[in-house]
Order: sequence, then structure tokens, then C-alpha cells
Amino acid sequence: MSDLLADRTTVVTGGASGIGRAIATGCAEAGADVVVADVSEEPREGGTPTHEKIRAETDADADYVACDVTSAADLREAVAAAEAFGGVDVMVNNAGIVRLESFLEVSEDDYETVMGVNAKGVFFGAQAAARAMVEDEREGAIVNMSSIAGLEGAGDYVTYSGSKGAVRLMTYAQADALAGTGIRVNAVHPGPVSTELMREDLSAGGTDAEDAFEAGVPVGRMGRPEDIANATVFLASDMASFVNGASLVVDGGMYSTRGTVLTD
Ligand code: NAD
Repeated sequence: MSDLLADRTTVVTGGASGIGRAIATGCAEAGADVVVADVSEEPREGGTPTHEKIRAETDADADYVACDVTSAADLREAVAAAEAFGGVDVMVNNAGIVRLESFLEVSEDDYETVMGVNAKGVFFGAQAAARAMVEDEREGAIVNMSSIAGLEGAGDYVTYSGSKGAVRLMTYAQADALAGTGIRVNAVHPGPVSTELMREDLSAGGTDAEDAFEAGVPVGRMGRPEDIANATVFLASDMASFVNGASLVVDGGMYSTRGTVLTD
């Protein structure tokens, strides 16, 4: 790709599969060593584990750390694992889950599960990385994964939408809280991207989610994981040194023209 992240170390939560796998690979192709932090080593879509793929196909080093982002202790361990590569420079809080749901049926358990991964996981992932960066007096970049569902209310997945809206505002607040440290914090808001989250989780109710979404994307195709990886590498790099507290929408024009509605 380039040497945009030469001599950096990146930690990617949810880096085993889908968008996180593309981000981890994209960071490695841009020169960074990578810690893949995930509950599972195996990609949901199949294939070689991400850290092994990076070692085999790029000049970068990579490792896998078992990490459940609902645990702040696990997140601190994932950040600590980056010490083996010189310490964390870039933290990508990407792990997330989605449930198609009826608002009137959502249980307390459903709510805590989605908010635990998508909101709490991003909060404490950013905190763990920021603590390490401040302690080392290291300038760094944090990228939090939101969604276009975090920009408007999506009634087909109301808990998810709430969690992604929380990511958007906690990103702005984290950027403010870290002012003067040299650490930048930004959010990425993907539109529909072909991953198992889209194919298995959002199609669970019987609707083919890819078909339902694709018609709403002005560029005429679904997003690819690499589209989100490219935006993330940019935000992590010095090319984005004046981009802070921003929401970068990467959705082929869907949100600004047609919104996020899955079924109408
Ligand atoms: P995916 O299901 O393909 O991959 C998610 C990865 O996160 C998996 O490897 C999974 O094991 C991991 N994970 C799940 N729970 C975890 C936990 N508690 N701790 C650590 N890892 C965990 O999903 P994806 O489509 O690649 O989504 C990645 C991110 O992008 C998510 O935050 C998602 O909300 C967001 N996003 C995706 C889309 C899309 O259309 N695919 C659109 C907008 C936003």
C-alpha cells in the first residue's frame, strides 16, 4: 500500500474477521506491526488467521491476543501485547455486533450484550490505549468504529443504532479529553459492507440484507472491507495530522442521500 504507518504498532479489536481483518492487513501493508485482539482467532469467513496471513504476506510482524472487549482488563492486556513491537501507536476499536430486533421485544440482556461490545468495548479500548500512550509520552491515533446507523435512528436495530451513536459522541469527547497530548481520536462510519455481520447476522430475520442495502448505495455496490481499511489507515497516519474529533462517513453516499433504513 505505502509506508504511511512505517515503524508504528497497531492494535485492532475484532481483527480476526471482516472489516477488522482488512484493517489489520491494511495497517501491515502500510508498514505497521499488528496485534489482532479478538475473541476468536479464526476468521468468521474462513481462511488463515489474520496474524498468520500478515506474517506470510507482508514485511510486518503480527500476533494474536485473545481479547473480549467487554472486559477492560482484556483490553489492557491487548494494549500491553503491543509492547513486544515497541508499544501502541494506533488503536482501532473495531469489534462490534449487530442484532436485527423489534424495539418492543428487546430484553435487558440483549441491550447489555450489544452495548457491552459496541459502546463499552470502544470506551475502554480507547482508554487503555490512551493511558499507554500518555505514559510513554507517545503521540498516537485512536480510530473508533461507528456506523451510518450511529448518525440517525435505525428502527430495525435500535440498540445497535444507540450504541453506534454513543461511539460517535464518545469519540468527540475523547478527542477533547486528550487535547494537548498529541493523541488524535476519530470515528469511521461505514455504510453496508460485505462481511459475515451483514451476511449472517443482519440476514438472520430472513431478509437478504445485502440485497436490501445494495439498492440504497448511490455508487451502485456494497462496501468492501478494504474501503473501510483505507479510510482507517488514512486517519491513523500523519496524512491526517489535522483531523481530530471527526466522523468520517465511508458509505458510497448512502447516508447523505437515502439514510440507513434496511426494510421499508
Ligand atoms: P464481523 O462480524 O465480520 O467481524 C467482527 C469481529 O469482531 C469478529 O472477528 C468477532 O469475533 C469480533 N468480536 C465480536 N465480539 C467481540 C468481543 N466481545 N471482543 C472481541 N472481538 C469481538 O463484523 P464486521 O462487519 O467486520 O464489523 C466490524 C465493525 O464494523 C463493527 O463494529 C460493526 O458494527 C461495524 N460496521 C459494519 C458494517 C457492515 O456493513 N459490515 C457497517 C457499519 C459498521
